[in-house]
Amino acid sequence: MKPYVFIDRDDTLIYDVPYLNVPDKVRLTPGAGRTLARLRAKGFGIIVISNQSGIGRGKITLAQLEAVNARMKELLAQDGGVLDDIFFCPHTPDDNCACRKPRTGMLEQACAKFAVDLERSAMVGDSQADIDMGKAFHLKTVQIRLAGLNKPDAKADYTADSLENAFSYLCGLL
Ligand SMILES: [Mg+2]
Ligand SMILES: [Zn+2]
Repeated sequence: MKPYVFIDRDDTLIYDVPYLNVPDKVRLTPGAGRTLARLRAKGFGIIVISNQSGIGRGKITLAQLEAVNARMKELLAQDGGVLDDIFFCPHTPDDNCACRKPRTGMLEQACAKFAVDLERSAMVGDSQADIDMGKAFHLKTVQIRLAGLNKPDAKADYTADSLENAFSYLCGLL
């Protein structure tokens, strides 16, 4: 078993663009790639957990989502950041699925695939749904409130203005 950082995509690893379907518009948040590299060096696995209702709504195709994710991975890798996996929920709220955050289905999928030490793992994201999902799975939670984006306080265990500034807190879980 090893610890994992479960991490949201939009407004956590990359800046949110509604229904992002163009790889050229992918922009990493400050320090995202190098912080993932430092977390891996400390022993964490890294898994992205992302709601992508644009698929269910017909706003983006699966191929477009994959192209955007590939571009994100390319940019992260330029700074040494590597992901173990990406789980996404393609459904809309009306689908009432088990995987759309704040439901925990994607975490369950991740734990079925990887040997996760939940006691030393954390959920990191910008939104209330990220924090609520993490708490429902008894994970430590970190809210990222990027400068200038005015995110409401989601009452996480820890709050930082970038992934980089959550690094020390996450290392404290080890
Ligand atoms: Mg987000
Ligand atoms: Zn779903």
